[in-house]
Amino acid sequence: MPDMFDIAIIGGGITGASVAFFLQGQRSVILLEQEAALGYHATGRSAAEFTRRFHSTETGQLTQASAGFMESPPDGFSDVPLLRPRGNLLIADAEKADHLHQVYETERDNTPAGASPVELLSIDRALEKMPFLDPNWVKAAFYDPDCWDVEVENLLQGYIRGAKTQGTEIRQSAPVTKAHRDGGIWVLETPTGVVRTHTVVNAAGGWADDVAGLLGAMPLGITPHRRTAISVKVPGYDVSHMPEVNEIDEVFYFKPDAGQLMISPADETPVDPHDAWPEELDIAYAAHYLSECTTLEVTHVAHSWAGLRTFASDRLPVIGFSGQAESLFWLAGVGGYGIQTSPAVGQIAAALLTGTDPPSNVTASGVNAARFSPARFEG
Ligand SMILES: Cc1cc2nc3c(=O)[nH]c(=O)nc-3n(C[C@H](O)[C@H](O)[C@H](O)COP(=O)(O)OP(=O)(O)OC[C@H]3O[C@@H](n4cnc5c(N)ncnc54)[C@H](O)[C@@H]3O)c2cc1C
Repeated sequence: MPDMFDIAIIGGGITGASVAFFLQGQRSVILLEQEAALGYHATGRSAAEFTRRFHSTETGQLTQASAGFMESPPDGFSDVPLLRPRGNLLIADAEKADHLHQVYETERDNTPAGASPVELLSIDRALEKMPFLDPNWVKAAFYDPDCWDVEVENLLQGYIRGAKTQGTEIRQSAPVTKAHRDGGIWVLETPTGVVRTHTVVNAAGGWADDVAGLLGAMPLGITPHRRTAISVKVPGYDVSHMPEVNEIDEVFYFKPDAGQLMISPADETPVDPHDAWPEELDIAYAAHYLSECTTLEVTHVAHSWAGLRTFASDRLPVIGFSGQAESLFWLAGVGGYGIQTSPAVGQIAAALLTGTDPPSNVTASGVNAARFSPARFEG
């Protein structure tokens, strides 16, 4: 006999895992992931950053609403703290020095509630934080203490472990390949068997529009964008306590990562959903930017990768029931902030799915969940 559930979540990245967790056993749930490993796509390829600044209003609110969970998750959720202090050094060359000062003043005057103030730095102070910056290139800098590394794998596994404890079934190597309605029930076909469910949650990341197509809904223009990263060794330096460094307009950024430096050229190339890999040109840009603003010579790239950051056209998440397909719930388009906003995104989705109010951390942050409704693209 096929299995029958209240809710089937398609997608085992951070978004699908978070809603599975926040449903808290109120419904019978199965999570279906096409890959053998959870978090194999965008979730496993991120820069693992949690930052309180430099967001749209809505992303800032979702981040604010997520901060409490990240700082203090439930007992037993993770063996290690989910956030590790990193700090962020914003830099500019001579051409953008005035612009950096303007950004600094704006950030100083709009410090988010509970955040620490930004600090304008002399070049000498910037070099104390990151000794291999090239003073011939860096002509202005400020420091944002409110930036952390996220333990992404612990966050993902914490959501999954919690969901399993609440009775959620997690099925890997289970791509949903076909779907149809049968007597008011969704019937999902996977190589591991047929799943019957009242409601489908589309948390398929870069594949969200394709999955909607399987379910007979029109695509909403949710588009994957490739982003590249490389990793290089920095002989002679212990980078572990150095801050993340962002070019003031995020033309590039780099940060310590497992004893090496991770550098991204902040590329954002629209692509079809696929198992993303880095293009040679983007690898070359990453190496070029690091060589340009530091005294380091990049002679060898230890590792390179790419992942999909998936956006709707207004770059806001898409969270809510479809107005087109019966009992289809969209949970997609979390773009470049899906890790750090996952607690609030999961809580909002769980509240909408169960017809309850979102928790107070969400409402207190000013989040208006109606802004994320798929209705804005459904005409
Ligand atoms: C280089 C890079 C840097 C980033 N840096 C940060 C950062 O610092 N901070 C931050 O918060 N975010 C960051 N992000 C963004 C973050 O990684 C994403 O927003 C987040 O991981 C998206 O999660 P997701 O679950 O929506 O997508 P995914 O992790 O891609 O998960 C979707 C899943 O759906 C599955 N799926 C698709 N179709 C089907 C199907 N038919 N059947 C079953 N399963 C299916 C896929 O296999 C996939 O595992 C970064 C991303 C990249 C690429």
